[in-house]
Amino acid sequence: MEPKSVNRLSDGLEIIWDNNVSCLYPYKYLRLQCACANCVEELTGKKLLKVSEISEDIIIVEYLVVGKYALQFLWSDGHETGIYPYNSLLRYALNDESVASKEKEKLLNDIKNE
Ligand SMILES: [Zn+2]
Repeated sequence: MEPKSVNRLSDGLEIIWDNNVSCLYPYKYLRLQCACANCVEELTGKKLLKVSEISEDIIIVEYLVVGKYALQFLWSDGHETGIYPYNSLLRYALNDESVASKEKEKLLNDIKNE
């Protein structure tokens, strides 16, 4: 599964996957999932990033497609080292209520059948 389109909306990042299921990721939520070495301690997996350190009105300024497997975001706080693999983005959509989608069941089924 890959994004068919990626849209920076006022209330979050919308990813429309290539099965046409749309998912809305709130910006602050997505920023807090950053798994780069500055945000997560490599050896222990402990999160170094605190919810209170991230501004409520953080947004994504720009994004890049990395290879054929991930998105990289430039955030309004200047952070840009985090890479978000499609697998992780799909997992957040399926497991986290913070990610809004009307078709999570379809998404799950389509991933299983890939
Ligand atoms: Zn990070």
